[in-house]
Amino acid sequence: MIDTLHIEAFTNRSRKLQACIHCGLCLEACPTYLVTGEEMSSPRGRLYLMKALEDGRIEATDEKFIEHENSCLVCRSCETACPSGVEFGILMEQTREIIDGARKPKLLRKFIYIKLLGNPTLIRILQFPIAILSKTGAVRLFEKTFDLKNSPFKRFASSLQLLPNDVSFPAKRLPMYPALIKKRGAVGLLLGCIGDLFTSQVNDATINVLNQLGYDVHTIPEITCCGALAAHSGFGDRARELALNVIETLESSTVNYFISNIAGCGAMLKDYSKLFEGTPNYDRAIKVRKKMRDISEFLLEFHKDELLQMNLALPTKTMIGYQAPCHLYHGQQIKDAPLELLKLIGDADTFAFEENDICCGSAGTYNIEHPEMGEALLERKMSIIGKHQPDIIATANAGCLMQLVKGVRESGSQMQVKHVIEILSESMSER
Ligand code: SF4
Ligand code: SF4
Repeated sequence: MIDTLHIEAFTNRSRKLQACIHCGLCLEACPTYLVTGEEMSSPRGRLYLMKALEDGRIEATDEKFIEHENSCLVCRSCETACPSGVEFGILMEQTREIIDGARKPKLLRKFIYIKLLGNPTLIRILQFPIAILSKTGAVRLFEKTFDLKNSPFKRFASSLQLLPNDVSFPAKRLPMYPALIKKRGAVGLLLGCIGDLFTSQVNDATINVLNQLGYDVHTIPEITCCGALAAHSGFGDRARELALNVIETLESSTVNYFISNIAGCGAMLKDYSKLFEGTPNYDRAIKVRKKMRDISEFLLEFHKDELLQMNLALPTKTMIGYQAPCHLYHGQQIKDAPLELLKLIGDADTFAFEENDICCGSAGTYNIEHPEMGEALLERKMSIIGKHQPDIIATANAGCLMQLVKGVRESGSQMQVKHVIEILSESMSER
């Protein structure tokens, strides 16, 4: 049962807003500011508008206000840059909740964020036609035939362009995948509501690596969605409802750790306490955080030496460039772990791209809702990546992976895009 849990958190909003000292150190870290150069597209500008709303100098229905707040990626790069500890991410999510409370969200948005996400049956039903369109090449043909990019249907076009060529048909996951060597523990893997649809190979690789290290991997089907996409998009009640379901499910689980390979989901679970600040569920959220690990963080924390001794290798000498997901780098402050893991692969020449902490334009559903900015950021990213032309672009989040695949396809290059755990899994089988 969801009550007005957010009231207390919103009460703290004034204090959180006052933390900004207007120094501007966050400006150059902000992707939308880098593209537009406009103060109101910067963290400081957006905070100024939030404060104006707080003081009653502006209405939540003001079109300019909505435009500037909604054009934020919630990448939280500004949090990393800020010397004053401004909690920008939660402030922005609250702002969007205020906006959606002041004007009715469109029916399609309500359907996606309230009905679809967190409903595995509905997602599976949709997966069939999506897999057919993807596997038959119909999507790519449709893209080539109709100039959707320059049509009024830009959002629809962006969704199509993000679809991978090999979306799988719905396959039933086992509740548990047993350890392949003597069992040393059990972990729960968060499959992700969309992750297992579009990037199921990443979950396969994660299960393989953990099984090879002696873990039983539980897939926890009771967890349907972590609520991150709903929270970013202003559907706070739905996000808290989904979050409470996750907390209740994990509380009754006996596994040693909960693992995520999707940076956005991992950041969300670690930050549930911000959703429930000032409520009885706050302490429960903190307990979840203690057992939550990103897969790269988990492997480095507990298995670095073991992985080193495994003499990991790929079939050929491979150049791998790493692009960090924002919700890993900024949201979870995990900056180097994926790169350190890749460096354990003996014959891999591994490096981080310049600006690898700047968003690729994916940001959950941002690239669909804001196709122009999503595309501008992807172009900026691909121009940097293109200078290096690695064999593999590595990242650590389902959304970034799909966005970068789109970028590579548009560039006509032969580079592959993979999740770090996929590369690690392959290097284990090549030993
Ligand atoms: S969250 Fe990202 S896009 Fe939004 S203001 Fe901060 S740096 Fe800019
Ligand atoms: S760096 Fe922090 S304190 Fe400075 S303007 Fe940006 S949000 Fe405000």
